[in-house]
Amino acid sequence: MAENPLAGLPRMDALLASPALADSGLPRSAQKAGANRVLERLRRAIRAGETQLPQLHVLAQQARQAAEELARPGLRRVVNATGVALHTNLGRAPLSRRAAEAVAQAAEGYSNLEYDLAAGKRGSRTGRVEELLQELTGAEGAFAVNNNAAAVLLMLSALTPGMGVAISRGELVEIGGSFRVPDVMARSGARLVEVGATNKTRLSDYEAVLKSGEAQALLKVHPSNFKVVGFTQSVAVEELAALAERYQVPLLCDLGSGALGPGPWPQDYPTVEQWAAYADVVCFSGDKLLGGPQAGILVGRGEAIRRLKADPLARALRLDKLSLAALEATLLDWRDGVAVPTRAMLETRPRDLRQKAERLAALLTPFCPCEAVMTAGEAGGGTLPGEELPSWAVALDPAEELEAFLRGRPTPILGRIHRGKLLLDVRTLLPGEEDIIRSALAAWKGERP
Ligand SMILES: *Cc1c(COP(=O)(O)O)cnc(C)c1O
Repeated sequence: MAENPLAGLPRMDALLASPALADSGLPRSAQKAGANRVLERLRRAIRAGETQLPQLHVLAQQARQAAEELARPGLRRVVNATGVALHTNLGRAPLSRRAAEAVAQAAEGYSNLEYDLAAGKRGSRTGRVEELLQELTGAEGAFAVNNNAAAVLLMLSALTPGMGVAISRGELVEIGGSFRVPDVMARSGARLVEVGATNKTRLSDYEAVLKSGEAQALLKVHPSNFKVVGFTQSVAVEELAALAERYQVPLLCDLGSGALGPGPWPQDYPTVEQWAAYADVVCFSGDKLLGGPQAGILVGRGEAIRRLKADPLARALRLDKLSLAALEATLLDWRDGVAVPTRAMLETRPRDLRQKAERLAALLTPFCPCEAVMTAGEAGGGTLPGEELPSWAVALDPAEELEAFLRGRPTPILGRIHRGKLLLDVRTLLPGEEDIIRSALAAWKGERP
């Protein structure tokens, strides 16, 4: 009778007793799970005909690596060297120090979230943020919810239920993650009334559906993640506002990114203040060009905002206290003229980026010969479409191997491969991250023969 091939498997106890695991300082549960993972892999290999089993200390080392991975949280800090400042897959905007501290404070203790300290009674949850938003945008009223998708839903549900809402065919956009303007409108109970063509919509197109009674409201959506070029025409907010006034219907706007004031955005990029001066309500994201936490911000006329806040959906879509703390701090940064991290990244001049890339290349060259190269980045997050941001990166190779190695580090480093090189764009590196990259490449070199 043939010997059971699985008999050669090391025992769990033996693996757990090996120094690699026993002295690892990792939680016992993670050690066991790591050992299990390695044994399971081995069983599969044996069943597939493998006869050469690695030695115990090698297996123990593999088990430790697996245990380390299992002990780490799933949501982890990563180094964004993609050059995309608002990377939706990487959490969009990194918070400012002030915002991060506000979050930590609100998280660790109790707070006056809904308590008026002066009056000694229940207070408004979003009051402080509303005041700051009014101050910054000049709007009469303001409110904030969970994200901009929620803001659009609330705006339409509360202000245009059962009404026909006119929107240009050029603005029926999909934002990503299957958030499509027509679908959200359907959910809100508003009726979509498409006007114009994909590339051209005129004021008379909107007027026709108001005149016929098909539509009782106007919606303008900023096509934030794409650009229609060539033979195009759309109607400016000012003109829509005049039309809305004439027909006594509300004008609602989804601005998407929500840039405040003058900034490193193109001249013709609409700001919140510009649209808020004309619209009944403008909504935008907290974590795009504002550079704050995930949030949906609504600003506009006092009466319209009061109706939004009174809608039952407002409670369902409300902002949690940590995001609220971060949003208030982010708005304070804006008020005080302090550039939040994403804004600072978008504002950095190419020559400063070049210097930063050259310094990084010098730091890394002892471990992996590399050079600073010019590259093109983008703002990301569905903002500033078609705007190339000239940037600088360090170019490394072998690209594929290094990309996988850096992505697998305890603090993963994410770049992008371009023309056979791994590019680490310096625009999106935060203070201290150069050293993380340096240590990673030192480890890379250490593993080479
Ligand atoms: C990004 C975007 C949204 C969705 O905003 P989130 O904050 O991601 O929910 C909605 N509308 C427009 C025009 C956008 O650009």
